[in-house]
Amino acid sequence: MAILRDEWLDLARKVDWEFRYVDDRDVFPEELSGSPWLPRSAWKDWNESYRTSYREYVANQRAKDESVRSVRDALDKVRLVEGLDRGWLQLVKFHNGAFVLAEYAAVPSELRMARFGRDAAWRTMATLGALDEIRHTQVQLLVGHDLLRLDENFDWTHRAYHTNEWVMIAARHLFDDMFVAASAIDTAIQLNFVFETGFTNLQFMALAAMADKADHHAFEKALASIQTDESRHAQIGHPVLRTLIENGGKDRAQFLVDKMWWRCWRAFLATTGTAMEYLTPLRARDRSFKEFMQEWVVDQFVKNLEEFELDRPWFWDLFLEEIEFAHHSLQLGMYLYRTTLWFDEPVPDAAERQWLQSNYPHWEEVYGPMWDRFDRAWEAEGEAGTIAYALPALCNLCQLPTVFLRPGRNTACTLERDGRKYLFCSEPCRWIFEREPERFADHRSVVDRIVAGQAPGKLIDLHEWMGLGASDHKGKDLRRGLEPWRFVPVPKG
Ligand code: MN
Ligand code: MN
Repeated sequence: MAILRDEWLDLARKVDWEFRYVDDRDVFPEELSGSPWLPRSAWKDWNESYRTSYREYVANQRAKDESVRSVRDALDKVRLVEGLDRGWLQLVKFHNGAFVLAEYAAVPSELRMARFGRDAAWRTMATLGALDEIRHTQVQLLVGHDLLRLDENFDWTHRAYHTNEWVMIAARHLFDDMFVAASAIDTAIQLNFVFETGFTNLQFMALAAMADKADHHAFEKALASIQTDESRHAQIGHPVLRTLIENGGKDRAQFLVDKMWWRCWRAFLATTGTAMEYLTPLRARDRSFKEFMQEWVVDQFVKNLEEFELDRPWFWDLFLEEIEFAHHSLQLGMYLYRTTLWFDEPVPDAAERQWLQSNYPHWEEVYGPMWDRFDRAWEAEGEAGTIAYALPALCNLCQLPTVFLRPGRNTACTLERDGRKYLFCSEPCRWIFEREPERFADHRSVVDRIVAGQAPGKLIDLHEWMGLGASDHKGKDLRRGLEPWRFVPVPKG
């Protein structure tokens, strides 16, 4: 006699047993399971809202993979790929380098929860989460690989995390903190709750919508397919947060949420924010990064905080002020230091500037003169006059240049600890550092390494050190430079 799914699933996912010969504290040590360490009884009500059996999981995932593959097969024509917008291709290259192998790094993190999570249903969900992240890595490596014949720099899809390129050091610093070097509890709150429920919609759904309008359907399909998995395993975060809050762990929960919110904001303004508004063709832009942030991230996050009776992070006003400026400020730095990136960066043309101004009322006034200066330097001195040669000041927490939040309002600050001076881009970055100095104090930024003689000071050697040795690898001006197609004149207003 067959037993119906609903008769066994609820029970099977909660199979847990008492250990007779060992203590729970030895099976689930605090270092790996997380703090606060709560008794087993505190976790017994851990429940996920959407339940999945392994059989359903396999059937669903197989169908998703088939549908990604069929779109890829149908659209895998040289003509279609070659017709993609040049800026858009740089966005895909940026996304692939910054995110694809981070998916792979998330596999052992899900597996850590699958072993050290304190409830059987949590461990089951995390096991499926690990399988999800393997799929995300593979699907995106495949899409990246298809683009290699167009541009060999798409090998950064796989290479980026193995280099010392500065954006990638910033990405590793963040993901190590968020989930690679984090306990099961910290991972559930930082990765599942803040990053996945809070922010990945932006990277995966907003970019998928833009990919559709930019006619890059293989990329669109891959991102949308990935996000359906994220929303399933991201639900691990809620019941972990709930259990912490109900058992005296509210302060810890609030700290993890605040810290990771700020760190994710820095990461997404640097990647999604700049890419969405400087690399995406105008026809693909429905809404601004600011609007996506407000609708998809801020509103949802505030609702989540209220549901858990958590406070808004103490830096909320600064964050709201930054939404208007921060990614535009960073974009100037990325353009100036473009030879240290693995993708190209444009000077916005007249139509793009108009779009920026209509979405950000201060854009022309604050940023217009700076971009004008680059234009004049191109004319007077050529490429050499438009590249920065001096070392930037980098934040010792987020590892980004201290360009925030805008020209005329710099939020950089310092700290001295055990005879070493640290620099931060903002108070929240310093606050995160000060809460757990033992976690961050020994790390050296790229500039610290240059000063200490651990990395070369000459730009050309530094490129080599960052993995950008071959001249084809280095970022260039998207529309000007050496290759003939780049001589297309930049449209002027
Ligand atoms: Mn993923
Ligand atoms: Mn995930």
